[in-house]
Amino acid sequence: GIVVENVTRQFGSFLAVDNVSLEIPTGSLVALLGPSGSGKSTLLRMIAGLEVPNSGHIWLIGEDATYKSVQERQIGFVFQHYALFKHLTVRQNIAFPLEIRKFAKNRIKPRVEELLDLVRLQGFGDRYPSQLSGGQRQRVALARALAVQPRILLLDEPFGALDAKVRKELRASLRKLHEDVHVTTVLVTHDQEEAMEVADQIVVMNQGRVEQVGTSAEIYDQPATPFVMSFIGPVN
Ligand code: ATP
Ligand code: MG
Repeated sequence: GIVVENVTRQFGSFLAVDNVSLEIPTGSLVALLGPSGSGKSTLLRMIAGLEVPNSGHIWLIGEDATYKSVQERQIGFVFQHYALFKHLTVRQNIAFPLEIRKFAKNRIKPRVEELLDLVRLQGFGDRYPSQLSGGQRQRVALARALAVQPRILLLDEPFGALDAKVRKELRASLRKLHEDVHVTTVLVTHDQEEAMEVADQIVVMNQGRVEQVGTSAEIYDQPATPFVMSFIGPVN
């Protein structure tokens, strides 16, 4: 799994992530939930290796990864605007990370078909991104992130730019995908309904700190702090 140990990240004198400690069990799907500016993306970027902590450590699968490069961490990520390559088809987009890692051609083909199946986009392989809906594009991005069988999947508001109906559908596909693949997943969201519906555990963040960690039921029924109580309103 992932262990975050007393991690702090400052920008100037501002503490974006303030002494955070967390344990994300292998194979679980955990949501980082909190308002805008609470430090969710900064924490995720440190887990990804895109940002280095000022202090503290990040352990990935039993190894201290704090100063390891992105490439060394065996992670896949999908961001809200992590664009697909426009001039490549869906198949070519998914194959891209395999090609740059010099996978053999005869291994790439079946792997791409398997991934198309996994995100239920059979029949869309020869389309270009401009010929897909926003939700379909994000499913291609997910397939591409999973192509090299990462040990950790990091998602930063992957469905953020989509309308409510498509978001709901994608939540269901993410949950299904997680049950199929079981890769340790961290999902950043400011949408409590999304966190509650999808995640095994929710980490509520506010002003760079962790306010509470628990299942959706625990957080809803027993909010640990006044912040959690006010942030977790009734779910519609
Ligand atoms: P959102 O939901 O809006 O994406 P977030 O919880 O992901 O918010 P972060 O992006 O982690 O929040 O930012 C946390 C705080 O750190 C914010 O106040 C932000 O302005 C600040 N911050 C983030 N990156 C930088 C940077 N590179 N330089 C200066 N300040 C930064
Ligand atoms: Mg963010």
